[in-house]
Amino acid sequence: ARNRTTAERDVDSVLHPYTNLIRHQEVGPLVITHGKGVKVFDEAGRDYFEGLAGLWCTSLGWGEERLVEAAAAQMRKLPFYHLFSHKTHDPAVELCERLLAMAPVPMSKVFLAGSGSEANDTALKLIRYRAHALGQPNKIKVIARDKAYHGVTVATAALTGLPNNHRSFGLPVDEVIRAACPHHYRFARPDESEEAYSSRLATELEAQILKEGPDTVAAFFAEPVMGAGGVIVPPAGYFPKIQAVLDKYDVLLVADEVICGFGRTGKMFGTETFGIRPDMMTLAKGLSSGYAPISALMVNQRVYGPVAEESGRIGVFGHGYTYGGHPVSAAVAVETLKIYAERDILAQVNAVAPVLQDGLAAFRGHPLVGETRGVGLIGAVELVADKASKAPFDAALGIGARVVAKAQAHGVILRAMGDTVAFAPPLIISAEEIRDLLRRFGQALDEAHGEITR
Ligand code: PLP
Repeated sequence: ARNRTTAERDVDSVLHPYTNLIRHQEVGPLVITHGKGVKVFDEAGRDYFEGLAGLWCTSLGWGEERLVEAAAAQMRKLPFYHLFSHKTHDPAVELCERLLAMAPVPMSKVFLAGSGSEANDTALKLIRYRAHALGQPNKIKVIARDKAYHGVTVATAALTGLPNNHRSFGLPVDEVIRAACPHHYRFARPDESEEAYSSRLATELEAQILKEGPDTVAAFFAEPVMGAGGVIVPPAGYFPKIQAVLDKYDVLLVADEVICGFGRTGKMFGTETFGIRPDMMTLAKGLSSGYAPISALMVNQRVYGPVAEESGRIGVFGHGYTYGGHPVSAAVAVETLKIYAERDILAQVNAVAPVLQDGLAAFRGHPLVGETRGVGLIGAVELVADKASKAPFDAALGIGARVVAKAQAHGVILRAMGDTVAFAPPLIISAEEIRDLLRRFGQALDEAHGEITR
C-alpha cells in the first residue's frame, strides 16, 4: 500500500478549530511545511504571502534564527520549571521586568500564562478575587462589546461578542453585559460625526452601568482595535470618552492587547495609539512572535494591592497554569523583545504602514468594496452588495470566503470575518512585498466580482 498523505491522515485524526468539520472531510486541509520571511510554503512547494501573520502573531516572520537559538539554549539549560509556591527562574523574571519597563502606564506586576484566553481568563478571576478583597462581592459584572474577541475558555468566550463563539455552547453567561461595537461606518447615524458618535456611545455606556447598578459592574474589556470582529478602528475620541465614564463609576479598564501589542498599530501598544489608561493589559501573539505559546497579564497597583492582601488573608492566590511562564517560551519572548528594540520595529512599521493603508484605501473605488480601514500594519476591506446603501451580500453567497479562496490561489493567505477581509502581515514586511500582496488581492477581488455579475 502506498503511504498515505498528510492530508489524508489529517482528515482521519485531527479535530480542527474554527472549521466546518463535515466539510473538512470532503475538502481536506492545506498542508503547510515551512516558512521564510513573510511567506509560507505548502507540500507542493507553492509559496504564499501570510497576510495575517498566521493568526496575527508571527510579527518577525518565519525563519528568525535568533528565536530558534534562544529556544534551543533554554531547552538545554532548563527545559521546564514553574512559578508556583515561591519558585522562579531567570527567563520569567527577565521577561516580567522588561514588560513592566515597556508598559505605557504604571503597572505593578506581571502574571504569565500560555495563551490570550488564559490571560483574559486570569483577568476575570482577578476581578472576582479583588471584589472579595474589597468587600464588594457583587461587583463582578463585566462589560464587553459586540464583536469583541477575548478568547474561547467558557468565561472568555462569554466575553467574546461573536455568534459563532456562543451558538450551541450555551453562552454567554449572566455576568457579561454587552456594549455596542464602535464601528462608525456600520452603526453611526446618517451625518453623525465620529466625535458625536463616540459621545453617544459613552452616554449609552453610562446608561447601561446605571441600569445594572454601578455597585455591580467591575470592569470593561476592550481591544484597542477589534481584531477578529473585523478590524474595527475606534472612532475619534472614543476611548477618552469611554474612560471618563468608567472612572466615574469605579469600573476597571482591561485593554486586550493580544493583537495590538508590540507595534501592530504603529506604537508599541494600542493603548498608546488611542489614549487608553488601562488597569490591566493582556499580551500574547507578538510577545513571542508566535514562536512559542506565551501570554502575559499586567496589573496595576489598584488591582494587585487588594489581590495580594486577599491572598495573605486566606493563605494563597489559588490560580496558575503548569505552563505559565514556561522557561522556553519566556526565553523566546525575551529574545523577541530584544529584536524589536535592536531593529527598531516601530520605525519599520511606520515606514511601511502608509503603503498598506494607502493601498487598501485605493480599493474604495472597487465595485465590491464598502469600506477600507486600518492603522499601522492592521487593516481590512469590507465587501458590500450595494455601496450607497451599504447593504451586505446575501450570506449564502459567502463573498468573503470566496475572495479569500481566490487570493489563496494567487498566493496570498488572508482571513475573512464574514464579508470583511483582514490584513495583518508580519511586521517585517517590505513595501515591495506589501504592493505584491495587494496586487494579488486585487486580482482576487476582480475575479470574484466577475463571477457574481456574470
Ligand atoms: N484576545 C484577542 C484580541 C485575540 O485576538 C485572541 C486570539 O485571536 C485572543 C484574545 C485569544 O488568544 P488565544 O487564541 O491565544 O487564546
